[in-house]
Amino acid sequence: MSVQKIQTEVRKFALQNAVLFNGKANEKAVTGKVIAALKKDGVTPAEILPVVSQVVAQINSMSAADQRAELATLAPELLKKEKKEKDFSLPPLPLAEKGNVITRFPPEPNGYLHIGHAKAAIIDYEYARLYDGTFILRFDDTNPENALLEFYDAQIQDLRWLGIEWDLEYHTSDHLQTHYKLAEQLIRQKDAYICNCTPEAIKDGRFHAKSCACRNENTGSVGLDLWKQMLASPEINYIVRLRGEMDSDNTAMRDPTLFRVITATHPLTSDNYHVWPTYDFAGAVEDSISGVTHPFRTKEYELRDPVYFHILNLLQLRTPHLMEFSRLSIEGMPVSKRKIKPLIEQGLVSGFDDVRLPTLRGLKRRGLVPEAIKQFVFQQGFSKVESVVDFSLVESVNRKFLDPRVKRYYFVPDPVRLVVADAPKKTVKLPLHPDAAMGNRTLHTASIFYIPRQDMQKMKVGDVFRLKGLYNVKITNIDETIQGSYAGEEIIQESAKIQWTTDETMPLKILVPGLLFKGETFNPESLREMQGYAEKAVARLPAGEIIQFERVGFVRLEKQNNDTVAIFTHK
Ligand code: ATP
Ligand code: MG
Repeated sequence: MSVQKIQTEVRKFALQNAVLFNGKANEKAVTGKVIAALKKDGVTPAEILPVVSQVVAQINSMSAADQRAELATLAPELLKKEKKEKDFSLPPLPLAEKGNVITRFPPEPNGYLHIGHAKAAIIDYEYARLYDGTFILRFDDTNPENALLEFYDAQIQDLRWLGIEWDLEYHTSDHLQTHYKLAEQLIRQKDAYICNCTPEAIKDGRFHAKSCACRNENTGSVGLDLWKQMLASPEINYIVRLRGEMDSDNTAMRDPTLFRVITATHPLTSDNYHVWPTYDFAGAVEDSISGVTHPFRTKEYELRDPVYFHILNLLQLRTPHLMEFSRLSIEGMPVSKRKIKPLIEQGLVSGFDDVRLPTLRGLKRRGLVPEAIKQFVFQQGFSKVESVVDFSLVESVNRKFLDPRVKRYYFVPDPVRLVVADAPKKTVKLPLHPDAAMGNRTLHTASIFYIPRQDMQKMKVGDVFRLKGLYNVKITNIDETIQGSYAGEEIIQESAKIQWTTDETMPLKILVPGLLFKGETFNPESLREMQGYAEKAVARLPAGEIIQFERVGFVRLEKQNNDTVAIFTHK
């Protein structure tokens, strides 16, 4: 076998090993593989060993994307053998049978979905799929003060963007008549009562574990009378309370509210109803009557679980297998509608799709892809342990998806002008990606260039650097403009390789989102701007495209008032 053939074999296995192990091939491992593979051709270890160390060193100096791309061309069959991602599969559900699992995702249509909702929706959806079950999208729209038509639509769009599909969709507000019947049943059974105490008195009673007179008086037939009055007139501002345990250590059990009067117009039922069930009642009843077998809630509801079961037991309704997972929290980011809303109202962010927000719309504008969000959720796991994670974890998953598939261009931040007096006129084709299949772009160069100021600050007259993909330049004078001379084409290993544009450029602003909060305080510098020149070719890309600016990072292009701007995704 020729030396060249051996080299190619070594290269294949070294690339494969590097791709499997974070970009660093291991000499010993590669040697073993090559010896085994070439044994049948009579190649001896002595012929292999000297080749390996040289090839491994060279491959380890390549970027991960370049290694992967070369392996894809050289030996695609080895790429397929790639070590499986760590197994982040769902743990089995208790008491679950294939075909009989029903889950649901129950958003309140009172805002835009964020990455925390994505976690919940993905878990619900994936469990239904795992067990060939049914997945329900249920809008928990029982507070007409907060529900808006635009939010139902937006939540549907955002779930679709995530790649989630549901078998059934309905609104809790569709079932109010059923809820009323069940309320009557509880009052008739003397398991619920009408309370007309003042809100202060009710709060006080709960605090001191003391019941009020309503508990025994306004139930049974008297209670039913009052209930009818409530239903008849929005002026009768009473509440329905469960007869729980007023002296329970768990304050959630101290006769929680089941129904209250809310007179706001509802986006779907208009002014037809003014008595609305609370989350405690509606959540439990809906899970049960819609056949949900495994409802998930975030851990903060744990203390309310006894209320959930108590209501269903009193109504003799089926009790689902209630499950919990931890709420997703991200350092410096508000992963909660309740925290996002005031930021919008106070004008601290531009809207629900502000690029600093963890809303699905904000993340999409920023260049996060749905596959990455899903993989991130799986990586976090499904435990109940509460933790605050760093957004860089989301970024690193996203990078893995973008790196092999987005085009690369040059961007020159804070540009300085470079004049290469004796520059040869050239037409160069530069690859859009190490994966050659992604094609090239063509640039015409003459004597004027722009290069990053930061790179120039490290240089002095006499230094030679390379305009990446073009040729070498020797610096002859440094002033407001840099003067240089043509210094040949041969690649000089140790010289800097610098991204550039010609004078055919596209001035471009990159918006760089940062963390909205430092500790608990709002960070006024959370949105920075980077100005510079992109290659002209970038101007022809459609809005919405995600690209990589070499050495700068990934960005997503967007149109703002007819101008193209870029949103910085991550390094
Ligand atoms: P928010 O504080 O964002 O208003 P919420 O719980 O009131 O949260 P809902 O629309 O009622 O919002 O939530 C729908 C589902 O999404 C619920 O099952 C809820 O537990 C889950 N969820 C909401 N926020 C998170 C989060 N940060 N992490 C995980 N799950 C979440
Ligand atoms: Mg809620």
